[in-house]
Amino acid sequence: MQISALIQSLSPSATLAMSQKAGELKAAGIDVISLAVGEPDFFTPDHIKEAAHKAIDENFSFYTPVAGYMSLRKAISEKLERENGVKFAPEQIVVGNGAKQALCNVILATLNPGDEVIIPTPAWVSYVEMVKLARATTVEVPCTIEQEFKITPERLRQAITPATRMVLLCSPSNPTGAVYSRQELQALADVLAQYPDIIILADEIYEHINFAGEFTSMASFPEIADRVVIINGVSKAYAMTGWRVGYCAAPLPIAKAVTKLQGQYTSGCSSIAQKAAEAAYNGPQQCVKDMCAAFRRRRDLVVELARQIPGLEVNEPQGAFYLFPRVTAFIGRKAEDGTVINSSADLVLYLLNEAHVATVDGAAFCLDGYIRLSYATADDKLREAFSRIAAALGKLK
Ligand code: PMP
Ligand code: GLU
Repeated sequence: MQISALIQSLSPSATLAMSQKAGELKAAGIDVISLAVGEPDFFTPDHIKEAAHKAIDENFSFYTPVAGYMSLRKAISEKLERENGVKFAPEQIVVGNGAKQALCNVILATLNPGDEVIIPTPAWVSYVEMVKLARATTVEVPCTIEQEFKITPERLRQAITPATRMVLLCSPSNPTGAVYSRQELQALADVLAQYPDIIILADEIYEHINFAGEFTSMASFPEIADRVVIINGVSKAYAMTGWRVGYCAAPLPIAKAVTKLQGQYTSGCSSIAQKAAEAAYNGPQQCVKDMCAAFRRRRDLVVELARQIPGLEVNEPQGAFYLFPRVTAFIGRKAEDGTVINSSADLVLYLLNEAHVATVDGAAFCLDGYIRLSYATADDKLREAFSRIAAALGKLK
């Protein structure tokens, strides 16, 4: 059966693959703790669920406008002004099936083959693959734990070539939890201000899971604001990963191009989910603060637990819900059955088989020698997971 060369060149999503594997082991009766997938473990708040029930009762059952209901785009436009101090008219906002589709839409709608996209790594698993879909080229800028996993203005400048068309930034970051301060973003904006042909794609999906203080949107720097595209959505802030609502807020020509693409591809996203998202943006925001407080408490817990494990190098993430320890101390060591751990990928497999804890290999995020652990899980499970990890790592000789 023929499969296109393009799709053959794609890697499957490592985050989704690992959580599926953990699910299969659980279904087979093995007590696996999954720290693999990044999604809030909370239920969607009641007032949002009620809005969805109401939308069903009121027959919101027809095709939706391709770019999303105007009422939702207005709610998003107001959110951007209220929370981020940035102005995007509803016409500049296109709602898609999650931030994932919103990102891919923008990448496909703006890049030509051969265009270069600068991505500071480690970076979320799907960015590089989406750039591949556009037949464009990724330019990775590796940022290690010593650099708090952040790109500096100098390194950004060095990576820019005449072929650079896009810089993709994610703060708070998946997989590292790094959060850029306003000053750090300003310094990046100062560099980008000198390159008017570069689009800045700012993935702000973890905006509200931020322990570092005030969140700064990349679109709030006037010198680059006219070419910033914001990606955001309800998945993380409102515990709505399964509802599949995200958006891009973009310069009008990009919003129109994205709408054209989406109109031929998936159409507007689910009517019921859009009405729920509208309630999320227009309703009370205390739920967002409460979930962030819970993630912060868990961050403190996992950092403390991880630092007690000799060999794990851990920093203190400032946002999102991931820990990204360096594990190079374990590479080259032997398991009790004689198997040698040759890479972080081997270590992830070892932890799954020996400790029954699912994690994700740093290499999937373009940085070998690290692993990602999602701590969006109940405290008692986190304690149990770290105690199992400590025991398994302690057995490596
Ligand atoms: N960007 C990042 C950095 C993410 O971690 C995720 C979560 N998978 C997404 C985008 C996509 O989010 P959504 O569930 O809204 O598609
Ligand atoms: N953002 C989550 C993660 O990184 C969800 C899975 C995915 O879509 O990659 O685990």
